[in-house]
Amino acid sequence: MTYVIDRADLGRLAAEVAGPVLAPDDKGYDAETATWNEALVEHPAVVVGATSAADVRAAVRFAAAQHLPVSAVATGHGAPMPADGALMINLKRMDGVSVDADARTATMGAAIRAEQLVSAAAEADLAFLAGSSPNVGVVGYTLGGGLSSTLGRSYGWAADHVRSAEIVTPDGELRRIDPDHEPDLFWAVRGGKGNFGVVTSLTMDLEPLTRLYGGGIYFGGEHVEAVLDAYRRLLDDAPEELTVSFAFLRLPALPSVPEPLRDRFSVHVRIAYLGPAAEGEAIIADLRAAAPALVDSVAEMPFTGIAAIHQDPVDPVPAYEVSALLGDFPAEAAAALIDVAGPDADTPSVMTEIRQLGGALAREPDVPNAVGHRDASFQLFAGTFSEPGREEEFRAPLAALTDALAPWATGGKQANFLTGYDTTVDAVAKAYEPDVYRRLVDVKDEYDPDNMFRINHNIAPRH
Ligand SMILES: Cc1cc2nc3c(=O)[nH]c(=O)nc-3n(C[C@H](O)[C@H](O)[C@H](O)COP(=O)(O)OP(=O)(O)OC[C@H]3O[C@@H](n4cnc5c(N)ncnc54)[C@H](O)[C@@H]3O)c2cc1C
Repeated sequence: MTYVIDRADLGRLAAEVAGPVLAPDDKGYDAETATWNEALVEHPAVVVGATSAADVRAAVRFAAAQHLPVSAVATGHGAPMPADGALMINLKRMDGVSVDADARTATMGAAIRAEQLVSAAAEADLAFLAGSSPNVGVVGYTLGGGLSSTLGRSYGWAADHVRSAEIVTPDGELRRIDPDHEPDLFWAVRGGKGNFGVVTSLTMDLEPLTRLYGGGIYFGGEHVEAVLDAYRRLLDDAPEELTVSFAFLRLPALPSVPEPLRDRFSVHVRIAYLGPAAEGEAIIADLRAAAPALVDSVAEMPFTGIAAIHQDPVDPVPAYEVSALLGDFPAEAAAALIDVAGPDADTPSVMTEIRQLGGALAREPDVPNAVGHRDASFQLFAGTFSEPGREEEFRAPLAALTDALAPWATGGKQANFLTGYDTTVDAVAKAYEPDVYRRLVDVKDEYDPDNMFRINHNIAPRH
């Protein structure tokens, strides 16, 4: 869709906003609209580089006057669909953070990245419930639940730890929300992603943690059965302080890939144990003994080193992905996964991952929120990296992976892991139980009846 905005109107918006306001033929437009997932090429009618809540308010009011949908982008790690014809608000300049060591909280801007918050918290001997990637945006991650790959089973979802937020709603107002102020909106924002406005500031709890026993063990593909057996045995009575996931990897022969892993299939088991190193060592001894390791980095480490556990890609890349929540991961499911994604499988997936959930992730927080499907025990996530524009080519081969594990799937999804193929309104509804979804629609009806915020994981209003 093309939509050309009158230059005089754009000039009036630019006069109100401290950051750049750029139309498609303006210099800097491509850089301002670029997202991390390069599978999407964005063509908004205008992009506003917001520097403050005041800029965001001006942009939202302008969008309302021009009847434009709004797309909020922090890092572009989870961009759900092209923002063609929309008003895009790029929040990347709003990346301030302050830590209150006594209250054990951090207050942050709209686009702070995980590694920035991990470092800021560490200065006060505290930790943030980070996910696997160091450069995902904390606010976008937290609004979608926030599944921490190191602390989730011990502390729950990042969204469970939000104390308050400031949000610019579709009417252009800046609202402070917490359990006592606009509690329905506060409930919905924590799990309902970007459906209710632009979060310009978030205050959340940090945890008193400076170290852990963690890292990754990579095994050769010829040992996949033995490794998955040991993984499943390890989980039989895993304490909540232990989070273990694994991924089947097909890494290319690039200099950035450690030599033993280049151009081959490997199984990467990722370990985070919060107890003493000696205990952790004993807990994973059988897993370590399951097969010779190609690389083993599991050791005592500072919490600031957690990005090394998963080794997620950091550079922008076109990615195509699928996910499913599982109720269980028995031996039959492991065999089905090896069949469809293991060393001998014909699949484009370069990363096929199983994360164990449960523990504190399964419990409701003191102040309930909209995070769905706490009862799932595992998550399957798989994806490939390629050039933009190849979604149709990868759709069926990637769906083959979720189909193979369908007998163990709950039918639910996690909002943060709904990408490209899964961002229709019906697909997004699968991230929530029916009663939670109905309540989210109620809140949407109240705050965004015209669905201004629809370039996202959209929860549509009733009309
Ligand atoms: C490599 C990688 C690893 C990941 N690992 C994990 C993980 O371990 N656990 C996990 O839970 N998720 C994980 N994710 C998913 C990630 O949390 C989501 O994609 C998240 O939405 C990214 O937020 P962002 O701000 O970085 O991205 P963006 O693409 O900028 O934002 C994604 C969406 O979030 C919303 N949004 C972002 N900021 C705001 C804001 N300030 N106000 C309102 N809405 C906003 C918008 O709707 C936007 O469309 C991972 C993603 C990638 C690419």
